[in-house]
Amino acid sequence: MEPVTRHPLIAGNWKMHGSQAFAESLSGAIAQSLKKPRAEIALIPPFPYLTAVAAAIRAHQAPIDLGAQDVSAHAEGAHTGEVSGAMLSDCGCRFVLVGHSERRQDHGETSAQVAQKFLAAQQAGLIPIVCVGETLAERDAGQTDKVVLSQLEAVLEVAGVEAFEHAVVAYEPVWAIGTGKTATPAQAQAVHASIRARIGANSDTIAGQVRVIYGGSVKPDNALEILSCDDIDGGLIGGASLSAESFVEICQAVG
Ligand code: PEP
Repeated sequence: MEPVTRHPLIAGNWKMHGSQAFAESLSGAIAQSLKKPRAEIALIPPFPYLTAVAAAIRAHQAPIDLGAQDVSAHAEGAHTGEVSGAMLSDCGCRFVLVGHSERRQDHGETSAQVAQKFLAAQQAGLIPIVCVGETLAERDAGQTDKVVLSQLEAVLEVAGVEAFEHAVVAYEPVWAIGTGKTATPAQAQAVHASIRARIGANSDTIAGQVRVIYGGSVKPDNALEILSCDDIDGGLIGGASLSAESFVEICQAVG
């Protein structure tokens, strides 16, 4: 696999929203409008709608990738309710989120488990988008870098820095997800630079290539200022990806 470069990535995480009809019409409208996007685009619908979204993308011949919201750390077997990386690949996925803060919070996923999911994703040929981010209490306590870098460290420890040639890091401050509060461009840039510097401590080359994308209440009216920061290589978009109009507008904000 060719190493991933810093071509911007905009990924729409639909979370647990919609229906089959909604997924078809939203992905169809996005695919229709993004025939020649300036960024790499990924749609990340709930598991049951992956194949419908894949079909809509194919029907419009749009250069849009498919992603999933989670993956099992196991390759196969007696793990009721889980979905393996091979199954996601089979459904046409290129990307998968690991360690989204809603998984860490709602399901108690630890950084060690997230690292195992990261490995499982890569073993299945998927590109993991590993999510890291601090809570408001951690930010207020001046622990942002410590928290974010320890989440990253867990993956570096088990996967090694070379694994980041085929991975994306998403910095998502927990206090900014779905709250309408966004990190200022300076706040986001500072954390992105710390993430890149930590990767650079192991490999300058990979630090220069890895995409570090930002998520947390990105909307059409704040996308440009956030996405133009030096170390921000795209966005992970939640709420605003549920409207074709606002998602497409964000995708077009990439220079
Ligand atoms: C997310 O779901 O990862 C996210 C960033 O959501 P929102 O854009 O709604 O804050």
